[in-house]
Order: sequence, then C-alpha cells, then structure tokens
Amino acid sequence: MKPKIWLSSPHMSGNELSYINEAFDTNWVAPLGPNVNGFESDLQFYLKDNKHVAALASGTSALHLSLIMLGVSHGDEVICQSKTFSASANPIVYQGASPVFVDSERDTWNMCPEQLEIAIKDRISKGTKPKAIIAVHLYGMPYKADEINEVALKYSIPVLEDSAESLGSLYKGKNCGTLGDFSILSFNGNKIITTSGGGAIVTKSKELKQHAVFLATQARDDAPHYLHSQIGYNYRMSNILAGIGRGQMRILDSHVAKRRSNHQFYFDAFNHNSKITFLKEPKGYFSNRWLSCILLDSKETREGLRLALEKENIESRPLWKPMHQQPIFKDYPSYLNGVSDELFEKGLCLPSGSNLTDNELERIASTINSYFVTC
Ligand SMILES: *Cc1c(COP(=O)(O)O)cnc(C)c1O
Repeated sequence: MKPKIWLSSPHMSGNELSYINEAFDTNWVAPLGPNVNGFESDLQFYLKDNKHVAALASGTSALHLSLIMLGVSHGDEVICQSKTFSASANPIVYQGASPVFVDSERDTWNMCPEQLEIAIKDRISKGTKPKAIIAVHLYGMPYKADEINEVALKYSIPVLEDSAESLGSLYKGKNCGTLGDFSILSFNGNKIITTSGGGAIVTKSKELKQHAVFLATQARDDAPHYLHSQIGYNYRMSNILAGIGRGQMRILDSHVAKRRSNHQFYFDAFNHNSKITFLKEPKGYFSNRWLSCILLDSKETREGLRLALEKENIESRPLWKPMHQQPIFKDYPSYLNGVSDELFEKGLCLPSGSNLTDNELERIASTINSYFVTC
C-alpha cells in the first residue's frame, strides 16, 4: 500500500516545543499563563483592527460563548449558513434556541444575502425576529461581508462570523476574523494552524474579552471564596496548547502561501478538463485556500473520483453536507435555492495540507488523470 496522503494534516514549524518547554520549566501547566497571553497578543497583532482575542478550548466553545454574549436563549431563533460544518449550528441548540438555515450563493459558496433577507422577513412575519446571524467563510473563501452586513444592519441583527477555516484570508484588505460583531477562530488539528485542539473568540473591546474570559473560567465573582451569580463554563485554552499556537503563528503566512500554491497546482493541472471547475476569488477577495475544492460535472463523476483516490490511499471528501439535509437538523426551517445541495453532490475537497510534497501532488494529479482516461 502506498503511503497515505491526508486531506489536511498538522504541520509544525519546529518552534512549538521551545514554548512548551518554557511552560514546563516555569510550571505554567494550567489554563492560563504567559503562552495564553502571548498567543492572544500574536493573534491581535495579526488580525489588526483593534480586536481583543480570548483563547479558548475550541472553535465550538467560542461559538457557544458568542451566542451567550449575544443574549441568545431558550426559544430564540438564530440564522445559520446551511452549508457548513455542524459545529457552526450545534451551539444554537446548546442554548435552547432554534437554527434557521439559509442557503449559499455561487460566487463564494457562502450565505446568500438575498436568501438571508427573505428568511429574516419571513421569520419576522411569523412573529420571531432572529437573534443573530452565523455566517461562515467556507474553505477559506470570504463570504460577501458587505452584502451580509448591510442586510444585518437593516434589521439590526448582529453577525457572528465563523472564521474557523479562514485565518489568513482577506476581504477587501481586512482580515477574516474581524468582520463580525463577534468572530471565532479554530485551531483544531486539521485547520490552517493548530494547537491540536483550540479556538478563540474575537471581540471589539477589552471589556467584551474580559467578559468572555470570565464566562470561560467558571464565572467566578470577585471574592476570596468561590462565589457565583451566573452559570460558568470551563472553556479556557491550556497554556501548553497556547505554546503550540505561538510556534504556529510564526509560520501562518507561509502556510497560507503553500495552501494557495497547492490550489494553483490543481488549477494548472485540471483547468483544461471540461468536467472540473474551480471556485475563483471574486475581486477584492483573498482566500487562504484552506482546502482546495473542485466541482465535477455530476455526482457520479465525483463519487467515482473519490473512490479512485481512496484506492490509491489518497484522502478526499465531498463538500460539507448542508445542515438542512442533516438528520438532526432537517425539521428546522430553511430558506433554500438549491445551491448548497448541488455543491454537495458535485464538490470534492482534495488533499490541501501545507506539508504536501511535490511528489505527493504529482501522485494525486496522476491518479486524477488516469481516472478521467478510464471513466
Ligand atoms: C472546525 C470548525 C468549527 C469548530 O471548531 P473546533 O475548534 O473544531 O471546535 C466551526 N466551524 C467551522 C466552519 C469549522 O470548520
């Protein structure tokens, strides 16, 4: 069996261990310490725009805290992009609220601003104004932030920006992760940088950050004993894992460059193939190309190609199955135009790691080429 080629695997810089050793040497083996503070300031420096970042246990916990801080509670409705990973939507249900799913548009594969407005109007006419909008930059491609924000502003609904897949992407010169009322990042093992598991909430003020940290550390009131006047969470990032994050921040931009060059490699190799199309960057958009995705001409071609790659021990994966099709979410309201269903049928994510070698890329390309010769 040929060695496995993964879709997206962790890629260390070599600097991570020195931060971890420092944590051990100084006994900061806890969910606070110099690496947590250092990682947060690295992220703030990177994101710019005067943001305040709190490092958390996961992107999912960052989404959950954001919803809590937006006041989402039992009986509320929250609009969520249907085409996404389930972690975008689950925290809505943690809060006892209901998701309302909105379909995608074709230019970025993210939330369609027209469908968003249709959904908001319809929910309002049914008597419930949505409490928040969760928009996602899938695979690193920024969503149409101006258009989404315009609709959100028109109805005074805050936007929660799920930037789990898009650290290093830019929208009209601004970093993804700075475009919402709250934003979240993920450092899971498959993301563009990783702390093995981790995430962050990005807020607009020091006070909001402090409140997020308060909630993430069991909501302890100011007293010598343990005093609680609200429900808390254990969502803070470990100082050990933050050490990995500090090492990863030093190579974030080179990881973005490598992922973009993977995408360029696939584009050059297959753009002439009439059965394969690519998602282009609209003007003013800069994608980190977290995953390189292609669209095939049919579901059959897509599945055939996936199996041909699997036979060669190459991992690939269909695009996210939309939430409105998921057994757990299918009974919630959804506002659909067919785009995310079609993308799910025809789309395939190809291996995209920043540690892919030229030989591995050639192996992938020749497997794809022989599939199209024989199919
Ligand atoms: C990975 C991911 C998350 C969740 O992040 P975790 O750190 O794994 O909890 C949320 N949303 C999207 C779009 C993701 O890809």
